[in-house]
Amino acid sequence: MNASCAFIRWKVMSMAGRFAVSVTRASSYEEQEVYKALMDALKMIDEPLKTDLPEMLFKVNLLAPKSPENCVTTHPSLVKALMKFARSRGFLGKIVVADSPGHLYADRKEELLTLTGMYDAVKGDDNAMATVLSDLGFVTLERPENFVLKNPRLSKRYFDAPYVVNVAKLKTHAETEITACIKNCFGIADTDTRKKAHLSVSIERLCNAIIDLYLANPPKLNILDGIYAMEGNGPTHGKPRFAGLLMASENALALDFVAAKAMGYRNPLSIPLLKLAAKRGIGPSSMNDIDILGVNPEDLEIKGFIKSSSSLRMLPTWLRGWTHRWVALRPTLQKATCIKCGVCAKVCPKGAIKMDPFPEIDRGSCVKCLCCHEMCPTGAMEVSENLVMKLLRA
Ligand code: SF4
Ligand code: SF4
Repeated sequence: MNASCAFIRWKVMSMAGRFAVSVTRASSYEEQEVYKALMDALKMIDEPLKTDLPEMLFKVNLLAPKSPENCVTTHPSLVKALMKFARSRGFLGKIVVADSPGHLYADRKEELLTLTGMYDAVKGDDNAMATVLSDLGFVTLERPENFVLKNPRLSKRYFDAPYVVNVAKLKTHAETEITACIKNCFGIADTDTRKKAHLSVSIERLCNAIIDLYLANPPKLNILDGIYAMEGNGPTHGKPRFAGLLMASENALALDFVAAKAMGYRNPLSIPLLKLAAKRGIGPSSMNDIDILGVNPEDLEIKGFIKSSSSLRMLPTWLRGWTHRWVALRPTLQKATCIKCGVCAKVCPKGAIKMDPFPEIDRGSCVKCLCCHEMCPTGAMEVSENLVMKLLRA
């Protein structure tokens, strides 16, 4: 589809207030199968890939140096399929595959890109590279219109990219409940900016900060790797779960709505991140604004999918910001699996953890951001409900 056709279609969709999300199925990460699922998904949304640019950035999810079977990161088979597809449509420019890992892995680039399979994914294409988003430094933006991050520092590589394809992973998240396309854009900021987003007990503040970052350079195309998803308390220590789904859309929020449906949320607007994004007008305001292509919406749900155990889910969205302090999940140490590495203390944005020799959490300073849980290499920093929530459930 040429640029003017794409523009007219976008205009018509916007005027009609409708958004398209295509869904295809794959039974494994076997390369031919992933390629076919991707091709079918992109065809259904009229292949919105722009091919006359000098460079394209695939913003993958590389949260930690883990092998693909752990389901923490975007699978390399999908990256390979997308590269092959772009080349088959005549894209001759440079392809850059990149993300920022959690900041304690920032100096472990080689390990990150080797273990996640990204170096292998770009092998054989002379005009493609895998890297980290910090490799060209950062730019500071003046964004008075932002809700939380007025001066975010963003990856220069990401901010300058003429065309970003968001290649996200379908996972649960102990704090934001799901992580799919919008949350995947959190990784474009530097460590200090991400820490600022986590500085408050307010879930609303964190979600609005994520949306601020998403809006800095919204991806033109969004693809979600849900062939194997993560269930339970993601995004690092949940359990891999076969879901067999691949999704694509020009609109990240529309895709996240459909992803939430697949995870078993009857109403995606019960997820604060999606509700706030809808309020800020970055996509559909309800499922009624979305055309799901390729599957019967009734057959979308992943049967028995285990959501994150966030207690906040029990409350109406409007109450969550106020009550976060009392009911949010909190980090709890399991000494038996703790290796006393101190990573949790390093990542804590509030300096609430002291090592002695095991981590000790100052509950008064802790804002329950769960960064320590997310980054703990052994899963020793678990999450649990606090007393108030346990009493309410009893
Ligand atoms: S809880 Fe995890 S991150 Fe913290 S010291 Fe123990 S093993 Fe390291
Ligand atoms: S102790 Fe953990 S949950 Fe609490 S503020 Fe620090 S990183 Fe966040």
